[in-house]
Amino acid sequence: MVNNIVVLGAGVSGLTTAYLLSQDPANKITVLAKHMPGDYDIEYASPWAGANYMPVGKEGSAHQKWERNTWPALKEITEKYPEAGIHFRGTLIYNRKKDQESDTGKWFSELTQPNPWYKDVVPDFKGVPSDQLPAGVDNAQEFTSVCINTAVYLPWLVGQCVKNGAVFKRAIFKHIADAANAHHSGQKADVVINCTGLSSKTLGGVLDEKMHPARGQIVVVRNDPGPMMSTSGTDDGEDEALYIMTRAAGGGTILGGSYQKHNWDALPDMNLANRIMKRCIEVCPSLVKEGQGIEGLDIIRHGVGLRPLREGGTRIEKDKVDGVAVVHNYGHGGFGYQASFGCAYDAVALVNEVLQNKSRAKL
Ligand code: FAD
Repeated sequence: MVNNIVVLGAGVSGLTTAYLLSQDPANKITVLAKHMPGDYDIEYASPWAGANYMPVGKEGSAHQKWERNTWPALKEITEKYPEAGIHFRGTLIYNRKKDQESDTGKWFSELTQPNPWYKDVVPDFKGVPSDQLPAGVDNAQEFTSVCINTAVYLPWLVGQCVKNGAVFKRAIFKHIADAANAHHSGQKADVVINCTGLSSKTLGGVLDEKMHPARGQIVVVRNDPGPMMSTSGTDDGEDEALYIMTRAAGGGTILGGSYQKHNWDALPDMNLANRIMKRCIEVCPSLVKEGQGIEGLDIIRHGVGLRPLREGGTRIEKDKVDGVAVVHNYGHGGFGYQASFGCAYDAVALVNEVLQNKSRAKL
């Protein structure tokens, strides 16, 4: 029995789902997308991400399960496939109670609390003794996490899928059901997996009004401060953030950031860029030489990406649109990488339910 499957979208969600499905030789997969790895576009979130694993899902939620289930896969890829562009990195988290009610503080509330669920998931978790905390920091913790060079990892995923027989094609669809007619076999696809991220807001047959952007601005520099770090907030604004991460395999260091809900602006705001660089140096002076300010940063580029945030959470669900079986996997906000495998496992389980129903119908 052959299964004709279309994956619509080639960001981390589409590629991870296609990668898992491609491991079954019965699945004949076409990945269709407007943007592919190598492109940088405001409609394509994945290349802009740091990306690292800093869990934010609330204890007991599906989000927590997805993040918990993703760590073993990222760890295995990091250990087994250095060419995937992921490395282990020490991580330091600072929490200030005064950030609790800000947008950034709420986003990071699970990450920054002193006794989080993920302490049993990531290696080397330990609290920083209170006499070693910097002024203004209420609690802090350290652990080992991963940092993903998205410019290497996304093409690596494409390579794995191609090796397993998947076919990649550029295409733009106005309606999700049309994607079923673009399978490389020429036959109609048995199922379409919707991994279109923020575009699910405007894609015909989906039109999800719960989708909105959380704008993230970054500065990529050549400086390498060592460990990754993040704080619960900043004194520069409710929707500004502070994080530092050096990507694997020469990917540079990402200085972030912002979490600006409903802001669609694709251009970097240079005032915000200055604030990002200044506060990163304040909290991590080893970014530059002693006595230097932002002039000590060697800038590669400024960037803006739109996190595909969904009110009510990520949508992983079966659907039927104009007679076409659809499985949705979109709305991953600022956690698309750190929840990628957990979400894709659930999406694949739903695809398998659709395919089993198809087989039963044919008997
Ligand atoms: P996208 O990457 O946006 O991909 C959507 C795909 O669908 C594209 O291929 C697009 O071309 C295609 N598509 C859309 N509409 C159509 C159409 N009509 N026809 C054809 N193709 C279509 N996450 C983490 O886990 N860790 C981090 O450290 C992290 N840092 C981040 C930092 C920044 C600055 C930003 C912006 C995001 C960050 N994220 C992070 C979040 C992460 O990047 C996103 O959650 C993730 O990239 C979403 O991936 P996606 O595949 O769902 O969507």
